[in-house]
Amino acid sequence: MDKLTVRDFDARDKRVFVRVDFNVPLEDGRVTDDSRIRASLPTIVHLMSQGARVVLASHLGRPEGKVQDGLRLRPVGERLSLLLRRNVPVTGDALGPGTEDAIKRIRPGEALLLENLRFHAAEEKNDPQFAAALASYADIYVNDAFGTAHRAHASTVGIASLLPAYAGLLMEREIRALSSLLEEPEHPYAAILGGAKVSGKLKVLDNLLTKVDVLILGGGMANTFLLAQGKSVGKSLAEHDMVEEARALLAKAEKRGVQVVLPVDVIVAKEVTRGTEYKTLPAEKIPASWHIVDVGKQTLDLIESALRDVRTVVWNGPIGVFEIPVFGAGTRHVARILADKAQAGATVVVGGGDSVAAVQQQGLASSMTHLSTGGGASLEFLEGRELPGIAVLLDRPKPTLVRAESPAPAEPPRVFRPAPRASELAAPTRTPMPAKAPAKSPASATTRGGPMNENPAAATTPAPSAAPAGKPAAPATRKPAGSATRRTASAKRKAGAPKTSARKPAATKRKPASAKRAASAGKRSTAKRKPAATKSAARKPATARKSATARKPAASRKAATAKKAATARKAATAKKSTTTRKSTTTKKSSPARKPASARKSPAAKKPASSARRPAAAKKKPRR
Ligand code: ADP
Ligand code: MG
Repeated sequence: MDKLTVRDFDARDKRVFVRVDFNVPLEDGRVTDDSRIRASLPTIVHLMSQGARVVLASHLGRPEGKVQDGLRLRPVGERLSLLLRRNVPVTGDALGPGTEDAIKRIRPGEALLLENLRFHAAEEKNDPQFAAALASYADIYVNDAFGTAHRAHASTVGIASLLPAYAGLLMEREIRALSSLLEEPEHPYAAILGGAKVSGKLKVLDNLLTKVDVLILGGGMANTFLLAQGKSVGKSLAEHDMVEEARALLAKAEKRGVQVVLPVDVIVAKEVTRGTEYKTLPAEKIPASWHIVDVGKQTLDLIESALRDVRTVVWNGPIGVFEIPVFGAGTRHVARILADKAQAGATVVVGGGDSVAAVQQQGLASSMTHLSTGGGASLEFLEGRELPGIAVLLDRPKPTLVRAESPAPAEPPRVFRPAPRASELAAPTRTPMPAKAPAKSPASATTRGGPMNENPAAATTPAPSAAPAGKPAAPATRKPAGSATRRTASAKRKAGAPKTSARKPAATKRKPASAKRAASAGKRSTAKRKPAATKSAARKPATARKSATARKPAASRKAATAKKAATARKAATAKKSTTTRKSTTTKKSSPARKPASARKSPAAKKPASSARRPAAAKKKPRR
């Protein structure tokens, strides 16, 4: 799974809506742990230093659709301002004219934080109108909130179908780390699962059993497996209704040749409290009125030897009741072993809020390969499910998409036309395309890019000759998301779809094969269900957007430059088209396409605001 990220578009002057996970613990109106804020700093700093106008949005706690003063984001904004050394104002509400005005006033390189999204019940309902209102604030959507990626909310899913949607740098790290556990992990590979209950992690266990060589079980969940082995666990936490599932999992592990490590000795306590009586006993001899609270020394030795040669480890769930220090020895020991393994070059990923907290308590966070910031999200990811908040982000095309099946024919000259909605265009933009190939086929992009893709102006504008099929959406307009979404097919035809298709037969013919592959790679194309007219208009969203981009304000200067570039591209394309078997990607990075981006890059690297670049941008933010 590879998604386009904030590095894949030119953020300069763009309004970028960034969904972050600032759901941090607060006490007396102060942030007590700012790790989640720090985790998104790389994304925020990247965008600010590029000269983007950043609209940050998050939820905090569970206000359930009502304004709760204790869950306002002001303390978060203050901490963020401290970290960035730059004032980040917080709006009084996520919606409303005041907020809209504040957003209009954001200058390049500045950020603003919307008030708690969950003060509106519409957020968690993924209400289309709420999503459209949020989308109207920006040209581009970025999701850096991995922790809420398993929730289909307005700010994680709804908005992403209205704007070109990219992953933030934290999101990218999470996807990479967790994918490395599911896709071709290095072996030997071990999973350590602990924590409170089997039920919440049953599907993860089931999925990981198909991948790992070693399965280590600890914590409360191991008790249910001890029951499945016919042992008694006294008053320990256990799920008697899950014993059958546990037995089936053990059988599956045996069948697959997975080595399972279960506690052979345990620490038992009279009560699960501090200062209580406790002792170590063999797992077969648990007294009826005692509680298992940790694993014993023999078990830790078994765990250590099972992990001796591992190259990949995933750990989710503490090994004992680690919150009580005397029952935290097992968890601490495992954390130390894993830190050593990671330092020795193994991939070690820790997921789960409590497990991560245990690692952090020991000061071992930076030793691990990756600590996931999303408890529930990381579990769902490890179950092998596609998280809705990730599914909606633009895919990076696979290398197999690079080669076109037939040589690209010479294309007609491209003419940049004045944009009918120039007044709405967000900011001057020069070819904000990544050097890489597109994320989506035009068809699949269309299914997701509603408003922009259906922009009538874009539809009637010929695509630049070298524009790649399905290049990632680079937004040109800031029009309210809702309006264009509701356009009918006939309205689009009226607006110029036939004209477009008449003018672009070559391009239309040239793209279907790769477009189809891209669509199937993305697994989300609904293009097949679309009426023909919609499809034909839809096939060109990226190029159309590009044209729109070239038509942006300052238009005269830029459009002139763009014209020159287009002419240069045309000349180059015409020269090569008869002899070269070209891919869309190759075209994108062909010399003929370079002038625009070459001209663009110095400016992009040094936005006007660079002098005011936040201090945090200059040094790597601590994680
Ligand atoms: P994570 O947040 O890492 O996914 P869980 O939420 O599943 O982990 O479980 C963490 C909780 O499990 C901790 O509060 C810990 O005290 C508890 N726990 C671990 N071992 C035991 C045990 N033997 N008996 C009862 N609770 C346990
Ligand atoms: Mg937990």
